[in-house]
Amino acid sequence: MNGKVYLVGAGPGDPGLITVRGAACLRRADTVVYDRLVAPELLAYAPEHAERIYVGKASSDHTLPQAEINRLLVERAHAGRCVVRLKGGDPFVFGRGGEEALALVEAGIAFEIVPGVSSSIAAPAYAGIPLTHRGVAASFAVHTGHRAAGADPAGPNAGPDAGPAAADTLVYLMGVENLEAIAAELLAAGRAADTPAALIHRGTTPRQRTVIGRLDNIVELARGVPPPALLVVGQVVALRDRLNWFEARPLAGRRILVTRTRGQAGELAAMLAEEGAEAIEFPTISIEPVADAAALDAALLAAYDWIVFTSANGVQAAWARLAALGRDARAFAGARLCAIGPATAAELARRGLIADFVPAEYVAEAVVAGLDVAAGQRVLLPRADIARPDLAEGLRRRGARVDEVVAYRTRIAGPADPRAAEIAAMLARGEIDALTFASSSAVRGFVAALGLADGGRPRGWAWPRVACIGPITARTAREMGAPVDVIAETYTLPGLVAALKSYFASLEANLERTFTA
Ligand code: SAH
Repeated sequence: MNGKVYLVGAGPGDPGLITVRGAACLRRADTVVYDRLVAPELLAYAPEHAERIYVGKASSDHTLPQAEINRLLVERAHAGRCVVRLKGGDPFVFGRGGEEALALVEAGIAFEIVPGVSSSIAAPAYAGIPLTHRGVAASFAVHTGHRAAGADPAGPNAGPDAGPAAADTLVYLMGVENLEAIAAELLAAGRAADTPAALIHRGTTPRQRTVIGRLDNIVELARGVPPPALLVVGQVVALRDRLNWFEARPLAGRRILVTRTRGQAGELAAMLAEEGAEAIEFPTISIEPVADAAALDAALLAAYDWIVFTSANGVQAAWARLAALGRDARAFAGARLCAIGPATAAELARRGLIADFVPAEYVAEAVVAGLDVAAGQRVLLPRADIARPDLAEGLRRRGARVDEVVAYRTRIAGPADPRAAEIAAMLARGEIDALTFASSSAVRGFVAALGLADGGRPRGWAWPRVACIGPITARTAREMGAPVDVIAETYTLPGLVAALKSYFASLEANLERTFTA
């Protein structure tokens, strides 16, 4: 039986701008056929088994010619597959979606169109330019920039009003190479030379940049801006002065490396992205269970006055063992629980347990000073294999009987890490504005991955700004040769993000806007 083809609009670049329906189609796909301008994150919606076929490079250099794409869709559908044809923006706005749908009709294949958020609407919105505005613009038109150069003639039904000046606001897609011809055509058609114009590059992505000018100088001002970009012409562009929001976010334009473990990096990356940064995940450590859990198991089932958790990983590891032993939180009923910070406390709370003590400052010294422990009382410390000895020693000095057990292992990256060379190249090109370290082991992992262990110095790159979650991590970073610029005041991920925000706000005057294709 024949499969079905869904022509799905992927949205303009921000992966959050796919429709609910589009995401649902992707979840069912056996085959995804996608273009260059599709946000790569969207492919993760498709099931693991789905084949992912890339069919587009640049607009002028199609990896697969259109006829081949049409044939591919038909062939996969004939094989009974559920095919998602994922296209940038909206499939029916300069997406050749109409041609693909006609090919499906001809082949007798069932299809559906899932509209997408077109870049023609979304990029101006993210640039703070409303396409219509009461008293300013009552209509807009979306043009192809190829037409001005004569390559893409208007259809036979275009009447005398179909010229370039027919709407108040004009949007040009695919116009970067033809800016000069477009501007000349508009001036010839009677648009004023001082009409505001904006060229929006990579709209809705962390790399969005906007050049603002007038019809008579936008060509000059926008020289060198690579595609993808779109042009907006009209009085509405002036509203950006007050409505620019996306590029005004505190970390906009900043590329920030996140070095946490694979499982944890996403949380910090999302928080940075929320403030406008482009977060690049480079996990330099991984958390693994202990090879022999006997000591941990025995400790978890023994009686303690206090159990001190120094990381969310420790809580997770303890629960993994409890579950393996067929036990639950009641195993800890006789003990009081300490969490070193709010993230660890939240991990306990997720399991229905309220931490009895969380120090005001989230470091071992504060636990030693503040824990309500009497001499002779028993304290369990489920911790990482590479933890500092300070906590156990400090509590012992206070007379506590402390059992340290290794609850999980921290494996740091090495020079063999496949992404290390890629990151080193980005550092060498100056493409990373800041490194973030949320633990000493993340620093060690980074240093090892980039071949700087044993006191090595960076070769071919210089340290960008270095931001650390707290003073201990900062000390490790300095010991490893990294100059530390930012230390969070509150030793949490939100504290780290806040510190980066205020640091970069103070540099804002020096920010150079760069364009990257
Ligand atoms: N169907 C797509 C348009 C495809 S034509 C849509 O509805 O958005 C490709 C052109 O769209 C590019 O040359 C560029 O002009 C524009 N474009 C696509 N994504 C863009 C983005 N994120 N920012 C600016 N322009 C973009």
